[in-house]
Amino acid sequence: MSPTSPTSEATHDEQRVLDAVPRQLFIDGQWSDATAGATFEVLDPSTGQAIASVADATAEDGMRAMDAAVSAQADFAATSPQQRYDWLMGAFHLLHERIDDLALLMTLEMGKPLAESRGEITYAAEFLRHFAGEALRVQGGYQRSPAGNARFLITRQPVGPSLLITPWNFPMAMGTRKIAPAIAAGCTSVIKPAQQTPLSMLAFIDILREVGLPSGVVNAVTTSDSGGVMEPLIRSGKARKLSFTGSTKVGKILLEQCAEKVLRTSMELGGNAPFLVFEDADLDAAVEGALAAKMRNMGEACTAANRIYVHESVIEEFGTRLAEAMAALPVGRGTGEGVRVGPLIDQDAQDKVTTLVADAVDRGAQVLTGGSAPEGEGYFFTPTVLTGVSTDARMASEEIFGPVAPLTPFSTEDEAVAAANDTPFGLVSYVYTTNLQRALRVAEALESGMVGLNQGVVSNPAAPFGGIKESGLGREGGSVGIDEFLEIKYVGIAM
Ligand code: NAP
Repeated sequence: MSPTSPTSEATHDEQRVLDAVPRQLFIDGQWSDATAGATFEVLDPSTGQAIASVADATAEDGMRAMDAAVSAQADFAATSPQQRYDWLMGAFHLLHERIDDLALLMTLEMGKPLAESRGEITYAAEFLRHFAGEALRVQGGYQRSPAGNARFLITRQPVGPSLLITPWNFPMAMGTRKIAPAIAAGCTSVIKPAQQTPLSMLAFIDILREVGLPSGVVNAVTTSDSGGVMEPLIRSGKARKLSFTGSTKVGKILLEQCAEKVLRTSMELGGNAPFLVFEDADLDAAVEGALAAKMRNMGEACTAANRIYVHESVIEEFGTRLAEAMAALPVGRGTGEGVRVGPLIDQDAQDKVTTLVADAVDRGAQVLTGGSAPEGEGYFFTPTVLTGVSTDARMASEEIFGPVAPLTPFSTEDEAVAAANDTPFGLVSYVYTTNLQRALRVAEALESGMVGLNQGVVSNPAAPFGGIKESGLGREGGSVGIDEFLEIKYVGIAM
């Protein structure tokens, strides 16, 4: 492991957790350098300063990882469900034991406030516990054929070596959401975390090593050349599955690549979530829910409320209350006491949010609070509420991925549902109403894989998470999450 040079602001604790993280590739149970010792830098988004360098894998390194996963597959598939349960629960307990250090590490590389990082570690750990249980419950079947002259034996087997690609916004949970069901099902894997936030995943991989997961079962490659490293693996025919979380744009490229060898795919892609507030909503709950759905992760979540449609009779009051609540959120480095809003991930993110707000204002939106990036270092953006946002504003069709809440009025239920569905995306929608019939009618009519009914957060490891339309394919979590890593085999038996 290479040493880290302390940045001027790094506290003793920060340096300690950074120093503890392996910075190399994890292949076949060993930490090893990338070819020619190449590295790339990880930045602290609150300062823009480098905090660590990690191994920069080449395509050749990626193939070594792939080969390790392929070699380990048969033996791993033969391990008992009980053994896989033990490995997953071992990792679950270590995440909890080390939550303070892991949360600090996540905040340093990703920017979110410490309390949110702790929340993500807990959420990430729950996938380990959930899928530990699922490992013990893989179902099969035995039945008579309709004609009675044969028997059907139905069993589920691991898909095989899997490629896992994760985004920067939830650096650990998006990884455990894939690694845990892969292990539970008996699949080996190669994981590639996002280049902006590799440290949390590397720390987690070291925990899997510590709990004794056999060599080659999980391999990790970090790289500044994602396409160059992953495409040969996808096209090699050695992997049987790709599970990807990230943008719809990249997801479509990967789906094309997967077509060549007909890989199984799970695609958790972008969102453009509508948040509907009806005239009969409990406004206190709706404001609280909007704050959660908008501000979790500084708005950098696929589930973030991206378009807030409010009935014309309550939009003024709702806007005033939401603006007050947003303006009261302390903004600062995620390590700061009481900070609720950290920086965005990078300069591009800050520029994009600034441009989207300017575009909405040009098209007639009024700024109720915020509206710009503060002066100074880091990629911060002041929590912003806009009202009267036109449906042709860019932010009505693009993911904002920042702390900006755009309000648009509606007058009828049909109009609200039509506006909500007027997007190629379909990950999650939110509905606030106290009318049961309306709640059910609207939830059924919304074109999304998930609906938050009078609640602003839907993520739960025990529930099936995923989208429809261009938001993706497949589900993660819930009782079906493990199916993404299992093939059904039927054996016909003559009698
Ligand atoms: P992204 O640009 O699509 O990147 C996601 C991952 O794909 C990263 O690891 C990235 O590596 C890698 N990647 C990029 N180009 C690739 C290529 N040609 N071949 C192989 N891998 C490639 O997305 P992001 O900006 O990190 O994440 C934000 C997006 O993720 C948003 O659209 C958000 O809605 C979505 N998201 C969806 C869910 C969900 O569950 N549906 C959850 C979280 C986020 P590099 O880091 O090297 O670019």
